[in-house]
Amino acid sequence: MEVLPKNETIALREKHIGKSCQLFYRKDPLKILVGKGQYLYDDKDEAYLDCINNVAHVGHCHPDVVKAGCEQMATLSTNNRFLHDNIVLCAKRLVDTMPEELSVCYFVNSGSEANDLALRLSQIHTGNKDVITLEHAYHGHLTSLIDISHYKFNLPGGVGQKEHVHLASSPDYYRGKFRDSEYRREDLGHMYAQEVKEICNGIEEKGRGVCAYIAESMLSCGGQIILPQGYLQEVYAHVRKAGGVCIADEVQVGFGRVGKHWWSFQMQDVVPDIVTVGKPMGNGHPVAAVITTRAIAESFEKTGVEYFNTYGGNPVSCAIANAVFDVIEKENLRENALVVGEYLLECSQILAKKFEFIGDVRGVGLFTGIEIVKDRSTREPSKEIASYVSCRMKEEHILISTDGPDGNVLKMKPPMVFSKQNVDEVMYALNGIFKEVKETFEFAIA
Ligand code: PLP
Repeated sequence: MEVLPKNETIALREKHIGKSCQLFYRKDPLKILVGKGQYLYDDKDEAYLDCINNVAHVGHCHPDVVKAGCEQMATLSTNNRFLHDNIVLCAKRLVDTMPEELSVCYFVNSGSEANDLALRLSQIHTGNKDVITLEHAYHGHLTSLIDISHYKFNLPGGVGQKEHVHLASSPDYYRGKFRDSEYRREDLGHMYAQEVKEICNGIEEKGRGVCAYIAESMLSCGGQIILPQGYLQEVYAHVRKAGGVCIADEVQVGFGRVGKHWWSFQMQDVVPDIVTVGKPMGNGHPVAAVITTRAIAESFEKTGVEYFNTYGGNPVSCAIANAVFDVIEKENLRENALVVGEYLLECSQILAKKFEFIGDVRGVGLFTGIEIVKDRSTREPSKEIASYVSCRMKEEHILISTDGPDGNVLKMKPPMVFSKQNVDEVMYALNGIFKEVKETFEFAIA
């Protein structure tokens, strides 16, 4: 990428400054007609490298997935009242990738439906109502989930924090509440878990029990945060002691994106009571699931309620999900996520050495965040630079988004078929745009 002359970059800055990139995408959306592998093609047949699409895990319109869906649609496409081979196989594949305690599967159509059902199962199983959720978390768009999604509930029109919802701090080593403390990095898991313990105690003091603790095992909307080691083990112990169940929301961070494991909770060496999965499960087709223990499923059965969801687990959705599993295995995509993800992280760290306004770089597998700051010493976030960079990347036909509570984290979560060459393309463009930033944002000049 050519670095633009200064007058042109100043004009670009004026064009993009102050715009949230999220809004920019929505206000000025691309008209995408075709998807193939890691590329999207617009109505002028121009290609965009997709680094934000956490649903097209095995690449857009993978031929095996398309074939499986079409074949099933041509044979049987109906509601979930009947037993069919694909639902049995899909349930088996899901539970086979999980610890053995997690042996029962419910099918739904979206991550929000999965988390809503997870909350319902938790309430029925424990008889409690109080839910512990993390600061800046997002768990879906249904009313039950807006209540536990700090990321959303404070936005205009949000409902505010309900009495039965308890917020635990985001265990963020870079920006979290212990960032300037004397605690060592390896102590942070324990420190943040202590806070959850105190919340549990507070609930018990009111004469109530905990219903559930829900968290992603790597915080996506919360700013690409990797949980400190040991955190979930301690948290799960406190929550269970207080009568609650532990829900791992794997909707965004599951299905092998972290490389070494199928699920990101496995990085913390814990066994949740309920796991919710979605997004990449259908590679763009709506299918999601809740996987839980026999004991929790039995509590649900005892209510006598027959769980019904018209399209949850329909034959086409399950055929597609099975094909996604096949492709991940056949094409060694978890291994690819690990190797290419490490390269992406290394290259981003090299950029961080060159540009003062990169405060932190973090990631696991194909899930990387670059935190943009005005000043490294104060860590003051810069949403302006992050938005500018993501808008300019779009002009360079590379799609990356911004996220996190301050909107200053450049987020990359490309399809798992991403290659090292794709990483080079991204780095080349980022390097050029970061040079523009250095020239035009006064506070960014190193
Ligand atoms: N959970 C997490 C962590 C998510 O990121 C999302 C969606 O962004 C959801 C749940 C909700 O999933 P859906 O949009 O499929 O309802």
